[in-house]
This record gives sequence, C-alpha cells and structure tokens, in this order.
Amino acid sequence: MTTNTVKRLLPTSTAGSLPKPSWLAEPEALWSPWKLQGKELIDGKHDALRLSLHEQQQAGIDIVSDGEQTRQHFVTTFIEHLTGVDFEKRKTIKIRDRYEASVPTVVGAVSRPKSVFVEDAKILRKQTNQPIKWALPGPMTMIDTLYDAHYQSREKLAWEFAKILNQEAKELEAAGVDIIQFDEPAFNVFFDEVNEWGIACLERAIEGLKCETAVHICYGYGIKANTDWKKTLGTEWRQYEQAFPKLQQSNIDIISLECHNSHVPIELLELIRGKKVMVGAIDVATNNIETPEEVADTLREALKYVDADKLYPCTNCGMAPLSRDVARGKLQALTAGADIVRKELTLTN
Ligand SMILES: [Zn+2]
Repeated sequence: MTTNTVKRLLPTSTAGSLPKPSWLAEPEALWSPWKLQGKELIDGKHDALRLSLHEQQQAGIDIVSDGEQTRQHFVTTFIEHLTGVDFEKRKTIKIRDRYEASVPTVVGAVSRPKSVFVEDAKILRKQTNQPIKWALPGPMTMIDTLYDAHYQSREKLAWEFAKILNQEAKELEAAGVDIIQFDEPAFNVFFDEVNEWGIACLERAIEGLKCETAVHICYGYGIKANTDWKKTLGTEWRQYEQAFPKLQQSNIDIISLECHNSHVPIELLELIRGKKVMVGAIDVATNNIETPEEVADTLREALKYVDADKLYPCTNCGMAPLSRDVARGKLQALTAGADIVRKELTLTN
C-alpha cells in the first residue's frame, strides 16, 4: 500500500457526506430510510460509494472520500455497531442544546465487537490511488446523541468512545486511509467541556496513529433546527474562539471549519496558525451554487491567516441533504475556485 501524501497546493476535499442516489435512499433528507434490503442493500451501498467517488473525481476533488454512502447518519450508524447501547429503549433529549430528538439508551459497558467501516474503506482504497479521507464521529458528539443510563457521566462515556474510536481508526489506517477525520460539531456548543476533557478525548482517539488526523467543527447541516439556531447567534459567530487555543496546542494535524457565508470572523483562524486548515468555501445550507470567484474570495481571505501550503479548500459541512445536481455544481465550483487561487499563488512565487 502506498502512502498518499498531498503534494498539490490547495488540495480540495469535502467535509464528508454527499447525496445518495434515489434508488438507495430517499433523496434530500437526513436519516433517510434505505430502499433496499439484505444483500441488495450491501451491494447497493458499495455501488453508491463507487458512484460518489466517480462524481468527486469528475469534479476534480483531490482528497476523496466514500461520500458516507454506507451510513444513514454520521453518528448513529457508528453507534449501531457497538454493544451497550439499546436502540429499542429510547428517550427524548436535547441534542447540542438545540433540538429535541428521541435517542437510544446506554444500558451497559460500550464496546466495538468488530470493525464498523473498515470493509467499506478497503473498497474505496481499491478504487483509487488518490489520498482518501475517512470521517468518524467525535467522542463528544457521540455522547450528545445518547441517553446514558449506565455511566451517568458524559466525560466517562466520552473516554470509552475515544478508546473505541481509536481501535476503529487504527484499522482504517491499516486499510490505507490517509486522513482520519473526527466530526465534532459539539465543540461549538459545550465550551467548558471541550477544554476540560473534549480535546483530550480526541487526542486519545488518535493515539498511536501515523496517518494524518483532522477534526471537523461546524454549525451543522442546512436543516431547519440548525438555521433557526444560527439566527440566535448574533452577527459575529465567535464560538471557534473557545476551542481554538487548545486545539492549536493539540496533536491534531488538520482543522476543518465553516467559513463561506457564515458569520465567523475570519481572523479567528490566526488562533490556529501552524495547523493545516480545511477552509469551508461552500455553503451547504443553500441550493445556490457558488461561483468560482466567490470560492476564490473566501480562500483569499483565509490565506491572510493560513499559510498557503496548509490551506485545504473544502465544504462547510456535509452535503447529504442536497440534491445531487446541486452537490455536483458545488464540487465543481470548489475546484474551479481553488484553481483560480492556485494560479495566483504560483504566479507570485
Ligand atoms: Zn459539519
């Protein structure tokens, strides 16, 4: 297996999820139920993974992913594979302090009887020599989508999940994944916990890994609960300011962020100077497709605070709830915008 290092300036990627084909799952919806069953479902998921890769390649994306085609949800699907969680026993709680949802209950010690995504990662690895990135939920975001009747401590449960994620991450690395990303939207909500143990748990999850690691922190998918929440955040979103100083000191290699169309003051990026930054230059909460020039503008702004060799143009978040046409257009805009800025950088150097 070759190690794929990213050599190109401004390598493009996506935050993770991409829309699924309508023969596999109901389109333009989160938690969309599968349309196939049994062996057909397994084969269908893998076909969709190949298709998603193809669409990323057609659009010229440099660091490719599985488009999260084999999972129904970025957190739940992983948890479904663990023991200690009872999906029949549900309780209504508030997720990320934002919206109520009926969630499964932790009823005993959590463990991972077998790998969750490793077979999928092997399939993706076989299809391409490009660098591949694989997303996993982060420990703090995992605990936030469960009712815990066993540990009765958010911190204890997060440490248990960190150990489990580390096992999965090591197997993904062995399967040839180049970048392992942990999705931690909860880092934008629970600031005290992030600094007390959230980032430490994340470092436990990446312990001993030789591949690159990333953390994705966003303001969520473009669903109503999130857009309503964003309206309460005021004109300046300074949430990143809370976690950045400690993240800058952490062992995480890459930080993936929401930038385009958000109210995040771009100068906050200065707080993570030295880290590689996946700069969200595509808004996932609108069907309007960015122009390449708009993407280039966001990247140019970010370049004031991120060294060019550390800037990775990306999407603000996953695109699962968008139509395939819109997602495809946005991927093309991302690569076209990155092309513009890449040329400018090459000319000036
Ligand atoms: Zn996100």
